[in-house]
Amino acid sequence: MAYGHYRRYTYLNRKMRLVFLGPPGIGKGTQAKIICHRFTIPHLSTGDMLRSAISAESDLGKKARTFMDRGNLVPDDVVLGMVEERLQKPDAHGGYLFDGFPRTLPQADGLNELLNRINQNLDIVLALEGDDDILIKRLSSRRTCESCGTITNLIFSPPREEGKCDECSGKLIQRNDDKPDVISERLKVYQRQTEPLITYYAEKDQLIRVNGVGTIKEVTARISKNLPDGES
Ligand SMILES: [Zn+2]
Repeated sequence: MAYGHYRRYTYLNRKMRLVFLGPPGIGKGTQAKIICHRFTIPHLSTGDMLRSAISAESDLGKKARTFMDRGNLVPDDVVLGMVEERLQKPDAHGGYLFDGFPRTLPQADGLNELLNRINQNLDIVLALEGDDDILIKRLSSRRTCESCGTITNLIFSPPREEGKCDECSGKLIQRNDDKPDVISERLKVYQRQTEPLITYYAEKDQLIRVNGVGTIKEVTARISKNLPDGES
């Protein structure tokens, strides 16, 4: 028992800095939450960082807004500036998990430069993987209620009555974004963007690939085997 207690103590004091990669439909968000909870680290997504910088009206937030108002992507230097500000907040001192960032090679390079400058290292880059066929099947099983907008999944949370919303009995429809062709295109874009990142982190010896197909518990167990405490 004493040994187990000691293990727990050490890993809780270890700074875990992760990047989490994974295609749409793989269940990355769910696994990210589990890891963050377990290591008491914040879950950092660029979307959330952007929203909070904009609502705080920080200099970077204002800058980001000028691009977004024109319908343009926020440039990497602005994103990286926000990341740097975010890492200075006390809750990130014990580590953090990046979700959906870096998205491109220049962003990965920028992050590397930033971490070097502030004397930090990534511990692990976790890539959750799954076959396109399975992801397409999962994502194309999403249905949206025409009346109230509730989203349901025919595989994971089938409605009580076929074709009808559990909340309001409205008609369940398949949005265009959830059609197999559109999903397949999104997956291709993801692969194109992510492939170079996979190579980049593999060369740095930081990459761990994990099979993301299975129940939430099974996938969590596979991930855990690769994290410092090594137990689930
Ligand atoms: Zn409804």
